[in-house]
Amino acid sequence: PINASKYIWKNGQLVDWEKATVHVLSHALHYGSSVFEGIRVYETPGGPAAFRLPEHVDRLFDSARIHRIPMPFDRDTLLSACREAVMVNGLESAYLRPIVFRGYGGLGLVPGPDVETDVVVAAVSWGKYLGEEAMEQGVDVAVSSWNRPAPNTIPTLAKAGGNYISGTLISSEAKRHGYGEGIALSADGLISEGAGENLFVVRDGKLITPPVASSILSGITRDSILCLAADLGIEVREQAMPREMLYLADELFFTGTAAEITPIRSVDGIPVRCGGRGPITEALQQRFFGLFDHSTPDTHGWLDHFRQS
Ligand code: PMP
Repeated sequence: PINASKYIWKNGQLVDWEKATVHVLSHALHYGSSVFEGIRVYETPGGPAAFRLPEHVDRLFDSARIHRIPMPFDRDTLLSACREAVMVNGLESAYLRPIVFRGYGGLGLVPGPDVETDVVVAAVSWGKYLGEEAMEQGVDVAVSSWNRPAPNTIPTLAKAGGNYISGTLISSEAKRHGYGEGIALSADGLISEGAGENLFVVRDGKLITPPVASSILSGITRDSILCLAADLGIEVREQAMPREMLYLADELFFTGTAAEITPIRSVDGIPVRCGGRGPITEALQQRFFGLFDHSTPDTHGWLDHFRQS
């Protein structure tokens, strides 16, 4: 269930939650022609603070560019819409969901000039995506029978609505079989990512994650972990990996705005070597979550405080 808030930012105005609706013949509903973001706003000692907001807004513009969706608002307007959606609803922590989509005006695949672009920013309160317990114990996952889209089919670097028909197949298959999440391989059989999370392997003290060429979304949490690991003096590599590396890992974890840093406990019924959450995963979690209670210094300037304290 969604935790409704009072207002939603829509095309430059604040509208009541119940009135933020679209027509059933909107282009995006039929063809998946939306691009969106998921951004977390954390409660901090200095008030609500968004994590890497400019990077998320930039990725939204990149996604629109890939799909040639004209953006009717500029970057600064989107940044302040995000801020406004949190503040007007009086939220101390939130999940922000900006979405840009082809709206009403035609049923052709290629939208004519009459099909408008709608821009919406919603802010809702939201807890742990894969569960509180998973943050300590880890989740049990399975390799999916569904692959990620091959390069030159559907661009995975765009965070587009249509891509999530793939993510839904991967995740629902895993859950149907009793797992917490599914991991997909790329079309050439290499490790790609989770349904809505990037994936990290720890082996012999090194941190390895698939490169962007492995049909992944270039996650902002992924990038943050690469930075935080380097700060901790951990060797990091972006490297293509075969499936069996999942069975040989000392530690495994997912990253994502929703999943944050979620340890993986087993893959296809094979326990990870450390048996649950490993020491490198825990150190990275501590460093990451420390940003929000200010026990980790924000040396990279990732937090945007919404209120002056
Ligand atoms: N991969 C996919 C397919 C996703 O949907 C997400 C969530 N946005 C991620 C990876 C993680 O990206 P981020 O860390 O930017 O949330």
